[in-house]
Amino acid sequence: MRNKYDVVIIGGGIFGTAMFYYLLKYTSKKALLLEKRRICSGATGSSGGFIRLLHSSLNLCDLSTKSFDEFNQFEKKIGMPCGLVKTGFFTIDSYKNLPAIEDHLQLIKNRGFQIECLTSREAARRFNCLEMPIDDDKVVIYEKDSGYADPIRTCKAYLSAGVSLGGDVLENVEVQSIVTKNGKVIGVKSSYSSFETPCAILAAGVGTYDFLKILGYKEPKFIKKIIQIGFYKYPLNNLPFPTFLDKTLGLYGRDYGDNRCLLGLTEESEQINDDQEPHLSMKVARKLTNVASKFAPWITAKCWIEGRCGIDAYTKNCEGIVEFLPEVKGLLVCSGGSGIGFKLAPEYAKYAISKIENY
Ligand SMILES: Cc1cc2nc3c(=O)[nH]c(=O)nc-3n(C[C@H](O)[C@H](O)[C@H](O)COP(=O)(O)OP(=O)(O)OC[C@H]3O[C@@H](n4cnc5c(N)ncnc54)[C@H](O)[C@@H]3O)c2cc1C
Repeated sequence: MRNKYDVVIIGGGIFGTAMFYYLLKYTSKKALLLEKRRICSGATGSSGGFIRLLHSSLNLCDLSTKSFDEFNQFEKKIGMPCGLVKTGFFTIDSYKNLPAIEDHLQLIKNRGFQIECLTSREAARRFNCLEMPIDDDKVVIYEKDSGYADPIRTCKAYLSAGVSLGGDVLENVEVQSIVTKNGKVIGVKSSYSSFETPCAILAAGVGTYDFLKILGYKEPKFIKKIIQIGFYKYPLNNLPFPTFLDKTLGLYGRDYGDNRCLLGLTEESEQINDDQEPHLSMKVARKLTNVASKFAPWITAKCWIEGRCGIDAYTKNCEGIVEFLPEVKGLLVCSGGSGIGFKLAPEYAKYAISKIENY
């Protein structure tokens, strides 16, 4: 181990590990990644790993299509698989919202992806394996090549590729403070040791919020939100079924192997402490089941297996932040995955590295 690095990355989630890899692959900088628990112990570890193209803004569609190419060729490029399973993906939305996403659909098509709009009747017929009733005022947008990947395998692949390129990683080492002098980063102080560096990347997920508060930011750049996940027995045939997001219910789901399915719901929560292991209460489990039973009647409390939940950092526009803070020279913040960060991380990471190169 050195005690001096060109860049120190704080956080070993998908943002931190992807940046670690790109930094070592495309620059000659010496990099260290510090993770306070185990790699992937934050939002990334509890993520469903959904990979889809259609998002709420053109910018996000641009990022998701570019990131998709990376997931598609992951093993060839990074050297280990990311566990991509192309189940197909459909989004259910209100018909009245269709005009607002015409440009998004066109961008995705222009990038060479197959994406089509189906009427509710056509979708119910095509995805009859889910036995879902869909009202006539809804539209279903189907992406043929999307699905899900494995967030933990993806992070470990980035990490191991970065280490083989000469990067250093320390797990169970908490960064306690970012040391500054005359408004510039000069190092980080951790539970293991202090490291000198002119550049720190804050990729601490919801922990980023607390760092920024310590650095004097009064206006929080992030909101913490809790995402609930339940696992259910899938009593029907025809696995795997397409991965889906029902925007009208705020519900998403996918096949989880062994005749199980994963269903998720985002809940606003005011008091979330990053250091407390989030747990799923019976009340929330019941709510998830109630919402899910509106999606398909076979989802009942009887087929509930278990649940878990995770916390993610959301920005106000849900697009995340990749920016050098003007007030502290050498501090790049890369956080705010806003419930969609896994699938977008390759592009966020490349963008962050281009900022560091030009810095
Ligand atoms: C339940 C759930 C389901 C989701 N499903 C999807 C999905 O299907 N598809 C999708 O694209 N996105 C999904 N997301 C969103 C996505 O997973 C997140 O946006 C993304 O993983 C955030 O990655 P990150 O690296 O910014 O943060 P994290 O994964 O939280 O990583 C931050 C890391 O920093 C570490 N850390 C914090 N403080 C310190 C410190 N002081 N010193 C050292 N280390 C520190 C933490 O331990 C943590 O490991 C989901 C999120 C959740 C919670």
